[in-house]
Amino acid sequence: MIEPLPKTLPVLSGSPDCSVIGTIHDDALPIYIREATLEQILDYSERDPSQEIGGFLLGGLHVDGSEYIEIRHFLPAFDARSRAASLTFTHETWARLTRDVDEQFPDEVVLGWHHTHPNFGIFLSAYDLFIHRHFFSEPWQVALVVDPHRQEFGFFQWRHEEVVDCGFICVGEGLGIRD
Ligand SMILES: [Zn+2]
Repeated sequence: MIEPLPKTLPVLSGSPDCSVIGTIHDDALPIYIREATLEQILDYSERDPSQEIGGFLLGGLHVDGSEYIEIRHFLPAFDARSRAASLTFTHETWARLTRDVDEQFPDEVVLGWHHTHPNFGIFLSAYDLFIHRHFFSEPWQVALVVDPHRQEFGFFQWRHEEVVDCGFICVGEGLGIRD
């Protein structure tokens, strides 16, 4: 479902080449993701469809005036333990993430995480919720689940202490969000 950008969302520079995908609640934090980054994540998700793989979503956190996040980089999880229906981040995963952000993306924020569900659909399992509550507990941190078999994906965000599925805004090439 693609809808025009509602007037309540932050104004973008350039031509409004943005697509709203899914339903964005009026009081929810808008999630913007660059089209190229989304494509990179979907490509990565198909790399090994036999087991769960994952990574991290980096970008800008804007909390002055209109609040939103803008996902513009993806880092695959290093040394994660993949199985057919589980993914475990290790101590080394977190250490490498901190180092890579410091070295490669010092101005970016870890906005959330990504993982795949090979052929079992888009939802957060009890273990996924455990990870989200413990490691992505900031109100603006999100999760992205991709099913490379069914070619489905979806975002989840905090809403009233719960983590719920939500829509997002895909930002076309050559556009940025006006600061
Ligand atoms: Zn999962």
